[in-house]
Amino acid sequence: MKIKAQVAMVMNLDKCIGCHTCSVTCKTTWTNRPGAEYMWFNNVETKPGIGYPKRWEDQEQYKGGWQLSKKGKLELKSGSKLSKIALGKIFYNPDMPEMKDYYEPWTYNYADLTNAKEKKHSPVARAESLVTGKKMDLEWGPNWEDDLAGAHITGPTDPNIEKIEEEIKFNFEQTFMMYLPRLCEHCLNPACVASCPSGAMYKRDEDGIVLVDQDACRGWRYCMTGCPYKKVYFNWKTNKAEKCTFCFPRVEAGLPTVCSETCTGRMRYLGVLLYDADKVLEAASVTDEKDLYQSQLDLFLDPHDPEIIAQAERDGISMEWIEAAQNSPVYKLAIEYKLAFPLHPEYRTLPMVWYCPPLSPIMNYFEGKDSIKNPDMIFPAIEEMRLPIQYLANMLTAGDAETVKRALQKMAMMRSYMRAISSGKDFDE
Ligand code: SF4
Repeated sequence: MKIKAQVAMVMNLDKCIGCHTCSVTCKTTWTNRPGAEYMWFNNVETKPGIGYPKRWEDQEQYKGGWQLSKKGKLELKSGSKLSKIALGKIFYNPDMPEMKDYYEPWTYNYADLTNAKEKKHSPVARAESLVTGKKMDLEWGPNWEDDLAGAHITGPTDPNIEKIEEEIKFNFEQTFMMYLPRLCEHCLNPACVASCPSGAMYKRDEDGIVLVDQDACRGWRYCMTGCPYKKVYFNWKTNKAEKCTFCFPRVEAGLPTVCSETCTGRMRYLGVLLYDADKVLEAASVTDEKDLYQSQLDLFLDPHDPEIIAQAERDGISMEWIEAAQNSPVYKLAIEYKLAFPLHPEYRTLPMVWYCPPLSPIMNYFEGKDSIKNPDMIFPAIEEMRLPIQYLANMLTAGDAETVKRALQKMAMMRSYMRAISSGKDFDE
């Protein structure tokens, strides 16, 4: 066994209010440079929705992540970079998003906005492309479809009031939406690192943060194809790949990442996990996709176990990091309580940003009901609600709906308990 330490994050989706503060503070810290204007190392997307870049979850289109070969071996979905080089395809890499799939970044010319020659009407001002410098019409941007969540509201089609009520009920009350903040997953088995022909992408030994060596990057962009989360970007001024650094200069100074520190909903938790590095490939290679969540969990070690502590010290992990692992909210939420799950474990990269599924519609359902006190009543009740368990399971557990339901049940019970005691009630009443 070889023990390594990994910094990781849990996001409690139940607490995200979709304010985008995390994205904006990340942008002003990291991507306000020329060539990086279209990049959002952290973005928040409304789900179900198209996402940023558009349809990033469509791995058939972008060929990201890993798959099992016929012999059961892990292989990059995009194929070997060497075979592509040998086939002479090195200058053309079609399996990655283009500018139109992100958006063309724009600005406004301040003079256009304020110079109204006639002084009678509002001045006419068009956006200006930051890429070409030309005037442009705005057509798309990150989270452009925000809050529509695929509901496709067309307005009432029948003047009859009952019909209108029926349509509103169908269109709004049955609508489900949630916010999904996303950043690089700093995966244990990063496809971006494996895809890079120049050895520029690397995973730091001491904390597992995945970075791009700017001197070594030759701009092949195979990392963009290889990353199934589409979280590597291409700087069109420097011709180099760029990505989230997990704010490592802040982390090294004992500070949280910018997105965590500024989160309005206080929904982000940072922590350290200890894992067995010798078992990573085995965990990513289990045959049945539905076992991937469990195989990922099995990698993580109990940081309170004296044998693990001794071995971790022998493997060069400092006591400071071991203590951080012992006090880690990520260990508690993801590994111990099993309330937080990896995003799309079926991509087989073993992502290190974990998500608690959203609970809010459940609480509305249970408002004023006593059944929340009884865990056995929660499962059938969840079935009746508009919470799309299978959709959440496809996102977080490769389709294992029972595991997601169990987490929601625990969260509902905990919420009910906390509400009862904070309002001075005896929970057992
Ligand atoms: Fe690499 Fe990050 Fe993509 Fe994982 S999410 S493959 S670490 S860029």
